[in-house]
Amino acid sequence: KAKGRNRICFFDPQMQSTVSYHAKIESDIRIGLRQQQFVFHYQPQLSDERRVIGAEALARWQHPKHGLIPPKDFIPYAESSGLILSLSDQLIDTACRQVSIWSENPATAHIVLALNVSSKQLRQPDFVQVMKQAIQRHGTDPTKLKLEITESLLVENIDDTIGKMKELKALGVSFSLDDFGTGYSSLSYLKRLPLDQIKIDQSFIKDAAINEKDAAIARTIVALGENLGLDVIAEGVETVAQQEFLQDSNCRLYQGYLFSHAIPADEFERFVTQMLH
Ligand code: C2E
Ligand code: MG
Ligand code: MG
Ligand code: MG
Repeated sequence: KAKGRNRICFFDPQMQSTVSYHAKIESDIRIGLRQQQFVFHYQPQLSDERRVIGAEALARWQHPKHGLIPPKDFIPYAESSGLILSLSDQLIDTACRQVSIWSENPATAHIVLALNVSSKQLRQPDFVQVMKQAIQRHGTDPTKLKLEITESLLVENIDDTIGKMKELKALGVSFSLDDFGTGYSSLSYLKRLPLDQIKIDQSFIKDAAINEKDAAIARTIVALGENLGLDVIAEGVETVAQQEFLQDSNCRLYQGYLFSHAIPADEFERFVTQMLH
């Protein structure tokens, strides 16, 4: 509790490395999967005209005893136990269902939903099939789905990844390179991957308005995106000064607490409607 906001501890932190702690979380995740305790909150993505153009789906665990648990406190356990595959199947289903619901509402029909994909997920031979089936199940418009991948997952098996990306792109799904600049950045990936967007990591945005090096990196990423014909979105925009810096740097898409935290679907719909007026 002393660790502050957004931090939960099931037990004594010293137990976190023990076998019994892992076993307990693993069994809790299994129960959570059966009882559909994993949900998304949606963080708005805005254009410089303050229009909500999209959302990032961010996973939350609605735990009956411990409340709302952030992804960093369960994704690693889901990955080490292999449960990430069932979890991501459920989350892909949830995302496709949500996009279909939003498409029925004129206020939200244009929303593109960005979904995070971990390396384990993308390495699954049936990943494309799982996506296709969920799209079919919910009659989802694939052009309203964007997958966020990270540089770290590209290190192994890049040809396999590119193949899967191309298959999904053929359906209309788009791709964003998340946390850009922090991973094993290689410009050759940018050349080879069929990307639509790069997302400037929030660590560069944090001090961009006050630190000349961060500012230079952020501006360079924007120029790189422009020259490669990719959209550029900034994440972690918290202050007006940061947004103004980005606007001056030609970055026109924003996501961050300045506009909204990640919020439940009904709140997100209200947020979109409010921004229209
Ligand atoms: P990410 O994809 O880079 O997501 C951005 C994180 O930054 C989110 O944290 C978001 O709540 C937070 N954030 C947004 N705006 C601001 C801001 O203005 N300031 C600050 N300081 N932070 C901001 P969250 O929701 O805790 O997610 C953390 C990470 O967990 C995500 O990083 C992503 O890598 C992973 N994750 C979340 N949902 C999923 C999922 O469904 N599947 C997988 N595989 N990973 C997920
Ligand atoms: Mg992301
Ligand atoms: Mg990110
Ligand atoms: Mg990040």
